[in-house]
Amino acid sequence: MSTFDAAYTFAHQGIVPGYLLAHLARSERYPHAAQAARQTLIAGRPAFHAALELSIDENGDLVAEVAAAPTRTIFDAQNTETLPGLIVRTEDDEPVADDTVNEAFEGLGATFQMLLDAFERDSLDGAGAPLNATVHYGEDYDNAFWDGSRMVFGDGDGEVFVGFTRSVSVIGHELGHGVIQSTAGLVYRDQSGALNESIADVLGALTEQHLLGQTADQASWLIGEGIFTDAVQGRALRSMLEPGTAYDDDELGKDPQPAHMRDYVQTVEDNGGVHINSGIPNRAFALAATAIGGHAWQGAGLAWYRALTGDLSSTADFTEFAEKTIAAASGIGSTVESAVRDAWIAVGVIEDARDRNPR
Ligand SMILES: [Zn+2]
Repeated sequence: MSTFDAAYTFAHQGIVPGYLLAHLARSERYPHAAQAARQTLIAGRPAFHAALELSIDENGDLVAEVAAAPTRTIFDAQNTETLPGLIVRTEDDEPVADDTVNEAFEGLGATFQMLLDAFERDSLDGAGAPLNATVHYGEDYDNAFWDGSRMVFGDGDGEVFVGFTRSVSVIGHELGHGVIQSTAGLVYRDQSGALNESIADVLGALTEQHLLGQTADQASWLIGEGIFTDAVQGRALRSMLEPGTAYDDDELGKDPQPAHMRDYVQTVEDNGGVHINSGIPNRAFALAATAIGGHAWQGAGLAWYRALTGDLSSTADFTEFAEKTIAAASGIGSTVESAVRDAWIAVGVIEDARDRNPR
């Protein structure tokens, strides 16, 4: 095991998976990016704050404050790895000269508004938790991550990755980890870990679609669009609708995500493939949402949210989650229920009962 292989198992909750950084670390074409990727892998990120104080009152989730509004604070690490950094913009401040600060501020707001409008959820914990973010973390830091209490953004190396604040799906994804942490608390390993990653992608995609007012058929279904430079052969970090097609680059390798259970990747890397096998439930969501049509947060999104905030086990596998989304969908409507069921059948997570019991 090389240094890079050993290091990347610790970089597990950033938006950029360790295996992608490990490819980049060996790049000869992008020497600056390779150096930045090595530094990012070695630096990892601060220890996860497991004891975040959040309310887990499930009944409270559906009771939105009438005047719920975000409480945002943006900090600047000034290219150090010291958190939180200096406060550079608070909720009532005007935009500042630094676009990165403003992008982070807007992205936090977009996530807050999606959670409130779509699910009547007041912030990440359902109880109005403040939203904090730190920008300009580290030097050429090739990642963005949720550290258990705040969003942290690197600036990217400029050769392969541009800054991470310009992708709203990245911001929604990372804050989505905060929602998951305060609800089902899905264990970050194997299938429950891949569900954690996938649900974070769902919340990231919904945040972007909600901000842009897109319907399911208008959406890109890409996570991290706009974070690669033009030099990279790739559209984004992941495609929810077509997993495995987001990038195919000589230096970064090919997007390794499977789109069906028959291609499920058994690996000890990446916490058991949490950023890899998340492609399977991602595609189930995108298929369900596009089959239902309209705004994805109203049909499939609501079913996913209710499953997440119901009695889901922290060690749920794909099958348990599929069954719970179908049960939640049945409470929304028969069209939603059949679309969600068909989607899980299409990706091979549940069997088609009609195959066993011909009518
Ligand atoms: Zn993640």
